[in-house]
Parts: sequence; structure tokens; C-alpha cells
Amino acid sequence: MFIKRIKVKRILSRSGIGGCRYALNPYLGCSNGCYYCYAPHILRSLNFNREWGSFVYPKENGPLLLRKELKRLKRGKICIGTVCDPYLKWEEDFHITRNCLEELRFVRNPLSLQTKNGLILRDIDLLIQLNAQILITITTTDDRLREIFEPGASPVGERMRTIRELRGAGLSVTVFAGPLLPGLSDQYSALTELVAMVQESGAERIIFDLLNPYPVVRRRMGKLYRRYFPDLGSELDLAIKNRKGYRRKVKDRIEKVKKDLIIETIF
Ligand code: SF4
Repeated sequence: MFIKRIKVKRILSRSGIGGCRYALNPYLGCSNGCYYCYAPHILRSLNFNREWGSFVYPKENGPLLLRKELKRLKRGKICIGTVCDPYLKWEEDFHITRNCLEELRFVRNPLSLQTKNGLILRDIDLLIQLNAQILITITTTDDRLREIFEPGASPVGERMRTIRELRGAGLSVTVFAGPLLPGLSDQYSALTELVAMVQESGAERIIFDLLNPYPVVRRRMGKLYRRYFPDLGSELDLAIKNRKGYRRKVKDRIEKVKKDLIIETIF
């Protein structure tokens, strides 16, 4: 893993994600290395010349910049972790996310934070003070698939324990089940298991999402499917080339799964 501290000119950026006015990413790059990640597409103008998942640049001046930028802040939600995971293991040493949270105590904007990693539990005290909405991403209940698709992220069991602890501390937790993995975690039995596990964890709701077929995602996922799931190539193709038809198919399955459940599901 290539790690190098950097100084950036801005730490808050306008977000294109619905409901988020500002995006805050304490790191550039992400060692979770998810194969379906669309961040390399969003950040393509930066020309990394390294494969996504193989580098992390901690933004060492992030908290200091944030203090200044918060003085000019308008209303609207701040979303932490839109193109990186704010709780990569390197955060244990760098404390950039934690120091940003410290700064955010002085503004009243709503805050959400998305992660796949259990290190978030370190900052429960601040997250409670900030009344943060937490999103924990879980794309599959199968840890073998997790290892293939999200090699650097926490195991599924650890994420479930994390949800329980966050909920126990009174925090709002949503599971972001996205993207569903074509031919794998988007199947009826896998969805049933996922929703049951999430419901049991105490999370308040589950949001489903589908693969974003940007060129870099198609390339990386195509490589993975050819290597590990050659028989499921047509499922990946459907998710990429016939988005409407694929969405309808998955929606029908989710509707069926939802019937007997009390947890709020959003798709
Ligand atoms: S955790 Fe998020 S930002 Fe990081 S590689 Fe995975 S999808 Fe991309």
C-alpha cells in the first residue's frame, strides 16, 4: 500500500449526492479497494497512475482547513466518506477524521458518515454529540464474497457488531446495501438473508442500490467476474447494459422479501 501525507487546498466540496450539500473526504484513495467503487471515475481528473485500492493519501491539513471553511458554511447536510472510507485502518494513526469531527462540533449542519469499518466505534463520543446519521455499507452477508469484492474492508460479522454497538449508544444507523452484486447478492435467497441479518442487528432501515456502470467499474468488475465467476458474466452484463430491466427484476425480488419484515426498506 502506498501511503503519503498530502496537503490539500480545500476539504469540503459540493456534493452531487442527493440530500448532501457538502462532501468531506479526509483521505484521497481508499485501501478498502472495492472493485465496484465509482470513486476513481469521480476523481479521474487527478490522474493517480495507480490502481484504485493501492494508495491512500491522508489529507494532513484537513482539520485545519475545515475550521476555516466552516466559517463560510451555508445550510445543508455534510456527508463524510463519499469517495473514501473515513475509518481506514490508517486513521488509527492519523486521526484526521476524528479531528474533523472535533471541528464540526461548532456548526449545526446535519451530518452523515458512511463506512465499512469497525474503527468508527472509537469516535462514538463525538458522533453522539454531533447527532450523526451513520451509514454502514453491507453488500453481501457472505464473507468470501466480501473478501473478493471489498478486500480491505472489515468482515461482515464485524460490521454487524458495529451496528449493534452504535445502536446501543443511541445513534441512528442505516445499512447501505449497495451495490448489490449481480448474480450473487441480488438473488432472492441472498436478499432474504441480508435483510434478516440487518433487521436483527437493530439498524433502522436498509437502502438498496445497484451497480454504477462507469467505465472503470465495468473494467474492474469484468476482470473479477472473468476470474472468479465466469458463469455469471451474463448477470453482470444485464446489470450494466439493461439497467431498466435489471432494476425491475431486483425490485420485484425486494418487494417479495419485504413482505414479512418490519424494517424500513428503500430502493
Ligand atoms: S469503501 Fe467506498 S470509497 Fe472506499 S473503495 Fe469501497 S466503495 Fe470506494
